[in-house]
Amino acid sequence: MSLRRWSSALAALALLATPAMALAAEPKAPPKLVVVISVDQYSANLFDQYRGRYTGGLRTLADEGLVYINGYQSHMGTETCPGHSTILTGKHPNKTGIPANDWLDPETGEEVYCFANPANALADPLGGGNGPVGPDNMKATTLGDWLKASEPSSRVFGISGKDRGAIALSGHKGDGVFWWRDGFGFTTFVEPGQDAQARLAPVAPLNAELKARFAATPPVWTYSHDACRKLEGDYVIAGEAWHTTVPPKKYSFETSPFLDEVTVEGALRLLKDQKLGAGDTTDILAISLSGTDRIGHGFGTQGPEMCEQMYRLDAALGTLLSALKDVPGGAVVVLTADHGGSDFPERLAMRGYPDARRVDFSILPRTNAALKARFNLTVDPIAYDGSGFNIVGEGKKRLPQPLRGEVARAAVELLAAEPDVAAAFTLDELLATPDPAPGTPPEMFTLKQRAALSAVTGRSPDVAVILKPGVYPLRAKVGGAISTHGSAWDYDRRVPILVWWPGATGQERMLPIDTTDIAPTLAHLIDVEAPADVDGRCIDLGGFAVDACPAAPVAAPAPAPTPVAAPAPTEKKKAGFRWPWEKKS
Ligand SMILES: [Zn+2]
Repeated sequence: MSLRRWSSALAALALLATPAMALAAEPKAPPKLVVVISVDQYSANLFDQYRGRYTGGLRTLADEGLVYINGYQSHMGTETCPGHSTILTGKHPNKTGIPANDWLDPETGEEVYCFANPANALADPLGGGNGPVGPDNMKATTLGDWLKASEPSSRVFGISGKDRGAIALSGHKGDGVFWWRDGFGFTTFVEPGQDAQARLAPVAPLNAELKARFAATPPVWTYSHDACRKLEGDYVIAGEAWHTTVPPKKYSFETSPFLDEVTVEGALRLLKDQKLGAGDTTDILAISLSGTDRIGHGFGTQGPEMCEQMYRLDAALGTLLSALKDVPGGAVVVLTADHGGSDFPERLAMRGYPDARRVDFSILPRTNAALKARFNLTVDPIAYDGSGFNIVGEGKKRLPQPLRGEVARAAVELLAAEPDVAAAFTLDELLATPDPAPGTPPEMFTLKQRAALSAVTGRSPDVAVILKPGVYPLRAKVGGAISTHGSAWDYDRRVPILVWWPGATGQERMLPIDTTDIAPTLAHLIDVEAPADVDGRCIDLGGFAVDACPAAPVAAPAPAPTPVAAPAPTEKKKAGFRWPWEKKS
């Protein structure tokens, strides 16, 4: 803590030190450990559904923490990469440069993974996956980057079930960035000149232990809560009968509660072995828990599978919070989500939402045929790879301007007449759309503003398409992904934001805040300077001996977002037809 901050806090304490105040809890010094947890696909609705049934860590956060039930990932492209990119940068995806999980490179026509980093290598020998990854595509810096710039001895660690969760939260200067790979354990990326074994050293003992443990006793997902058994049911998905149960007929380690349990175990190991929060400067531990997302995609949110996941996630987080009570320098925890989610449309339709459905996939050939004839084109002009409708020519390379813009505008006109489409916008009009005025509640953002917060030059598709609520852009197959997120609607945008520290007193804070508010709030708490151009605002937490957040300046309307340079081309990924939303989540 700076002298400025301490002197102000001590002066305040002196003024308050009257006998009447003797029983009041003393404000705590700023914590030496910041723990940020992102539960992938943990919608505010899901938190609300299970809130009264938790008994572990989530109960502690809900009862003792500051509960923002109306947190928002306020952009349109509610996917894992952009969602994680907002949490510790304080910026919307149009400024983090991460609009989607994948996009189509305009020059090469090749698909680019959000955190593709071709110069790096992976520390494990498995190959495949998302290929070499790293943080370079993210154009914004994170709380950890700000912290290390002012306190180089501070440590920043991230651990996740998915590479993108760990990388986005750890920023550009993480000391250890780990994610799970079945068949190996926790892995990381290796930059040129780095040594893979040295990079893996913090997780190597745990990897060895887990390998031995699972070899001796292969994990089998079974019921641990009878309440979940009552949620079994029978459905028909794409003509195939399906009985929901635990264990599911087909599942993997990564689509089970085990994934989050080992991730929390890894976080606990980092906490202990790296002595996080025990030094003179503040450390950061970022944890992204991917199991809820994988289970949501595979089995929906209202069955016995998600029910078991909720209880086991709660238990795992209980273990984590217990350990955080012993951190010598004190800890603060923020738990949120990268995006929300909902159930699969067949079950929704059975439960009073008759319009819930999968999109009419004939939109694609119909729109392509109309555009091809109107503009006398030789190839289908819409390519669905990436995150939307890309206007392309041969080899999926973008058509030149002004033709591309004309085709995009014509596509928007055609899409407006489609019964499944709520709105469509060209990238050009989104890039010219100012951010919502500061202070505008995220539920009031227009669809165009939501889409504009996901618009990045050189990465976003030429046409953003917003399907009507309850229309799911995903084909279904039992055993594959049957449910998804990514929409501009609040079931995918609204997430809990829970703030807790040992000794906190519960408060409900019902008015909406944005996930971009998390980073400037934590920066203020630990006395680190956030960049002046963050989108989020500092929120007073109370409970700590720190000054109130500085008053927000009266802001002029924000200018249109600064264009982000196109990424370097990466290795070609597998081709083949996919709808824009049928991709990693
Ligand atoms: Zn997902």
